[in-house]
Amino acid sequence: MRRLFLGSRGSAIRSHNLRAILLALLRYEPVSRVRLAQVTQLSNTTITNLIAELLEQGVVAEDAPELNERRAVGRPQTALRLVPDSRYTVGVHFDVDQVRAAVVNLRGQPLRSGAHPHSFDQTPETVLAETAALVERLAAGLDERRFIGLGVGVSGLADPATGVNVFAPNLGWRDVPVAEWFSRRFGLPVCLDNNVRAMALGETLFGAGRDAHALAFVYARIGVGAGFVVGGQVYRGSGAGAGEIGHATILPDGGEACRCGNTGCLETLVSEPAILRLAYQIAGDYPGGHLAQALANGQGASIERVFAAARAGDAPSRAMLAERARYMGIALANLVNILNPDLIVLGGLFDQGQDLLLPGVRQTIRERAFAHLGERVELRTATFGALAGVVGAAALAIDAFFYRHETAYSA
Ligand SMILES: [Zn+2]
Repeated sequence: MRRLFLGSRGSAIRSHNLRAILLALLRYEPVSRVRLAQVTQLSNTTITNLIAELLEQGVVAEDAPELNERRAVGRPQTALRLVPDSRYTVGVHFDVDQVRAAVVNLRGQPLRSGAHPHSFDQTPETVLAETAALVERLAAGLDERRFIGLGVGVSGLADPATGVNVFAPNLGWRDVPVAEWFSRRFGLPVCLDNNVRAMALGETLFGAGRDAHALAFVYARIGVGAGFVVGGQVYRGSGAGAGEIGHATILPDGGEACRCGNTGCLETLVSEPAILRLAYQIAGDYPGGHLAQALANGQGASIERVFAAARAGDAPSRAMLAERARYMGIALANLVNILNPDLIVLGGLFDQGQDLLLPGVRQTIRERAFAHLGERVELRTATFGALAGVVGAAALAIDAFFYRHETAYSA
């Protein structure tokens, strides 16, 4: 089947120009050609030619001329906008205990989404096959010619060049060729990266990071990781290992053992397992307390029960969470001193428990970061909440196959 790729015959300059136009459309639509030329700093001729192509491909639509933008001489200025459902991607987010997938349009809007639990003792092949079945259910009935590719965010170390999930200690995966597997199954190009890096790109293209020069996305759940986007480009480091903030040493002596082999890592202090371990200790110390009752009888996931007890005023739970916020704040103050980001976005449990955790995180960053850096950095929670991972994974695919025309793996 012929896939409807944009500019597959294009040069690098053309790709760059197309990306600039499409990003400007995402950000400013409805927008005139004149304004597009201003914000992209491309020539009028380039804008006219590329917009003509985009109109022909049905990716951009033109509104009726707007009176207030009508020029005295020449063609009236018409407003251009993206046709968001003209192309789709599938975003797949592998988390430690579940995989989530969504069909996402060109505006980064998840149209359909679903999740499937998996466990440590399942083989990668089983998890991939169940994920493929989930994707098929989500895509059923949609025009398959509109799909431009899949984006996959995996946990742990990922190699975007080969599409291999090199090492995911929380899943027990080593050298799993995830992109190749999906590409063979669906006949589409597949782009793969670390899932937090994908979320950082999702915020940059579609969320709170559209105006940020340097953005850090920090995701804490079972593990803790960060993704960086600087000047619109994902920063991966020399071995795709940038962002392992979860293994920053916070307690040099006497800390808990971390799965990485070190002790006292951030992840041993502020992750879901760390919070639950401490919560059960509190419940043991205060068997008649709020938290013991919430853990025994409450509704929802265990972490939500801990948050519920703290919201109900349970003092030991509140103190324990305040200390978690302080540790995260210390790690982020160090990050601020090194990267000096405009924006830090927090996802995962710091999003779920933001009312309890964010004030302490913010205060610690202000106290600990150098000079005014801590006051200047903006701190927010993930724009797409629980869907941050799938929107981020879709952003990988949209960025690679729609804007840049790269292919990580294509069967
Ligand atoms: Zn560690």
